[in-house]
Amino acid sequence: MITSMATKNHDPLALPLTHLKGVGTQLAAKLERLSLYTVSDLLFHLPRCYQDRTRTYAIAELVPGMFATIEAEVVKQQLVLGKRRRLEIELADRSGYLYMSLFHFSTPLRQHLPTGTRLRCFGEVSFFANRLQMVHPEYEKMTAPTPETVVQTLTPVYPSTEGISQKTWHNLMAQALKLVNDSLLMDYLPATASSGYTLVDALNYCHHPPQNADLALLEAGSHPAQQRLSLEELLAHHLSLRLAKQQIKTLVAPVLQCDPAILEKFYQHLPFTPTQAQLRVLQEIFADFKLGIPMLRLLQGDVGSGKTLVAAGSMLAAISQGYQTALMVPTELLATQHGLTLARYFSVLSINIVVLHSRMPAKQKQAVYQQIKTGDAQVVIGTHALIQEAVEFQQLGLVIIDEQHRFGVKQRLQLQAKSAQAVGYAHQLIMTATPIPRTLAMTFYADLDYSVLDELPPHRKPITTVALANSRRNDIIAKVREFIASKQQAYWICTLIDESELLTSQAAIATYDLLQTQLPEFKIGLVHGQLKTIEKQAIMDAFKSGELHLLVATTVIEVGVDVPNASLMIIENAERLGLAQLHQLRGRVGRGTQASHCILMYRAPLSWHAKARLDILRKTCDGFKIAEHDLKLRGSGEFLGTRQSGELNFKVLQLTRDHGLMARVTELAEQLLKDHPEFIAPLIARWLKEKVQYSAV
Ligand code: ADP
Ligand code: MG
Repeated sequence: MITSMATKNHDPLALPLTHLKGVGTQLAAKLERLSLYTVSDLLFHLPRCYQDRTRTYAIAELVPGMFATIEAEVVKQQLVLGKRRRLEIELADRSGYLYMSLFHFSTPLRQHLPTGTRLRCFGEVSFFANRLQMVHPEYEKMTAPTPETVVQTLTPVYPSTEGISQKTWHNLMAQALKLVNDSLLMDYLPATASSGYTLVDALNYCHHPPQNADLALLEAGSHPAQQRLSLEELLAHHLSLRLAKQQIKTLVAPVLQCDPAILEKFYQHLPFTPTQAQLRVLQEIFADFKLGIPMLRLLQGDVGSGKTLVAAGSMLAAISQGYQTALMVPTELLATQHGLTLARYFSVLSINIVVLHSRMPAKQKQAVYQQIKTGDAQVVIGTHALIQEAVEFQQLGLVIIDEQHRFGVKQRLQLQAKSAQAVGYAHQLIMTATPIPRTLAMTFYADLDYSVLDELPPHRKPITTVALANSRRNDIIAKVREFIASKQQAYWICTLIDESELLTSQAAIATYDLLQTQLPEFKIGLVHGQLKTIEKQAIMDAFKSGELHLLVATTVIEVGVDVPNASLMIIENAERLGLAQLHQLRGRVGRGTQASHCILMYRAPLSWHAKARLDILRKTCDGFKIAEHDLKLRGSGEFLGTRQSGELNFKVLQLTRDHGLMARVTELAEQLLKDHPEFIAPLIARWLKEKVQYSAV
C-alpha cells in the first residue's frame, strides 16, 4: 500500500504528536507540559510502574497493599452513615469476603448492583476494621460466568499531568507503538550492546511487558530492555559532545606563547616552588596554545591544590602575545581575593590587573570598562559582571572560569563570545574544585580536554573531621577557646537555613552575638551576603592579617577563600548540606602547615543519608573519593552542576540509577565512530531535540 510505504520511508519517531488520533491542540498543550512533542518523546516516556491485571486472584490470596483483579458476587449492600456516608458492598468468592467501599454513589447505582450480581474489580487492597476492602475499585459487571481475563500483558501506569488519564496514555502509546512496529526503524546500537533487544523490541517490552516479566526489575528500571534504552540515550549525549569538540577544533584561535624569560622570572619570584603537577598542567596548556585552534580544557584540582597558580601561568602566555585574559569567578569576595593573589604572583612583572563586579560604584565601573576596551587592562577579574554588554575587550585571547560548577555553560559562552572574530576565538580554561568522577567526566565532558592537579602542595596535613550533635555546643565552644589561645584562627559557618539569604544572614548575626558573649576574650568578625562589598572585604582582610581570631560566616566563603592560618572550622547544620559543598567549605582549612580540624555540627536524629554523608567526610579528605561516594549515594547532580540539571534533559536515563552504564559508553562511541559513522547524526537526532553544542556556538 502506498500510504504505509510512505510511513516506512520517514522516521515515525520524528512525527509530531498531533499526528496521532485524538491529539488536538488541547491535549497537545498538556503533553507539552511534560516536554512531549514528538512520537519519540512519547515512546521514551516510560511507565512509572506496572499493574498486574493479567490474572484474577482469589480473595484469600490478597494481601493489603497489592493491586489485584478479583471476580466475586455481591452478597449484601449496606449504607453506612456517619461522618462520611459510604456504600459498603460485600463481595464474596469461594475463598472469602471483601468489602467494596464507595464514598461517591447514586441511588440508581445501588439498584444497579443487587445481590447476586457478578463483578470483576480491580483496585488496591487495604485492610480496614479488621477486614479486606477495596475503595473505589474499577469494576465491571460480568454477564456470563466466564473467568477469562482480557489483558495479556502487565498494565503500565504513566507519569502524568492534570487532565491526561491513564486511558489516554494507553491509547496514545498504542498508536505510537503501532507506528514504529509498522516501520523499519533502524537500530543504531551495536548488537553487542543491546542485550538482545532492538529499539523497537525494547519499547514494546517497556510499554507492554509480558505477564511473566520481572516486575521488581522493571519498576527499579534495571530490566535489560530499559537499560538498553538508557544506554542508547547516554551514547547519544556522549556522541553529541564529541561532535561539538570536533567542531571547535575547526575554528581558529590566536597562537599564544610565553616568553621564556618572563616565565622564568615569574617562577623565581613566587612565594613557593610550583608542584610537579602544576608544572605539568601548565605544559599541557602551553602545548594547546601553540596549535592555533581554541583550547577548551577542564582543569580539575581538589580544593587547595593550587589552581590559581596554573591560571596565572596561562595568563602570561596571553600577555606575552599582547592578548587580554578574562577570569570569571562566582563571588565578589573571590574576585577581590584573586586580584590580590595575582598582584602578588606577578609582583615583579608589572602587569595591569583590574577587578570588576556589579556592585561597584558607577564611576569606578566606567573607568574599568575603559581600561578593558583600550587593552590597558591585561588581566580582567570579575563576577558575572564580565558578561554585561557594556564590557568590551580590545583583544581577548584567554577566558578562565574559576569554580565552573557555579556557572552555566551559557555564561561561559557569553564571555567567550567577547573575543573578536578577527583575532580568532579565545582559548578557554575551565577550573573546578568539585572533583568529577572519572567515568562521569569522560561521558559528560567529552567536549573538553582534561587536566588534573593530582598533587597537593607539600606539608599539607589532613584535616581531622568529627561530627557532633548540637547538644555538644558547650564542648565545641571550649574547643574553640583552647584553639584560639594557641594562636590559630577559626571559622564558624552558619549554613543556609532555607532558600533565603536574608534569613541565613540573620541567623549568622544571632550566632555572632551569642559567640561574642560566650567568647568575650577574642576578636570575632562576621561576614554574610547582606554586607556591602567593602565591608566584607575589610573583615576578610582583618581575618587574613590575623587581627580577628574567629570569623562567623555564611557560605559566602564557600569557594576560593584562602587564609592559611585558619585551621579550625565549625559547620552548623552540616546534615543539610551536600557532600560536595561540605568538602568545598572544609577546604578553607588545611591550607597551612599546621594540623587542621573540622567539626560538623548536626541536629539529631540523622537520616540514613545524612549519616552516610557525614561518615564519608570523617573518613576522607580526598575530593575524588568523596565524589565517587556521592555519585553512589545520590547521582551526579552536584558534579555536573547545571550541565545535568538544566542543560541535559534526559528522557529515560536516570544517573543515580544508571551510572553503571557510563563505563561502556566511551568504548561504544569509538566502535560506532569507526564502524558506522553514518549512524551518528541520526542517533543524536533521535534522542536530542536540538543538537547540543555545549562547547561551540
Ligand atoms: P585552589 O584554587 O586549587 O583551591 P589555591 O590556588 O587557592 O588553591 O591555592 C591554595 C593555597 O596553596 C594557597 O595558599 C597558595 O598560596 C598555596 N599554594 C599553591 N601552590 C603551592 C605550591 N606549589 N606550594 C606551596 N603552596 C602552594
Ligand atoms: Mg581556587
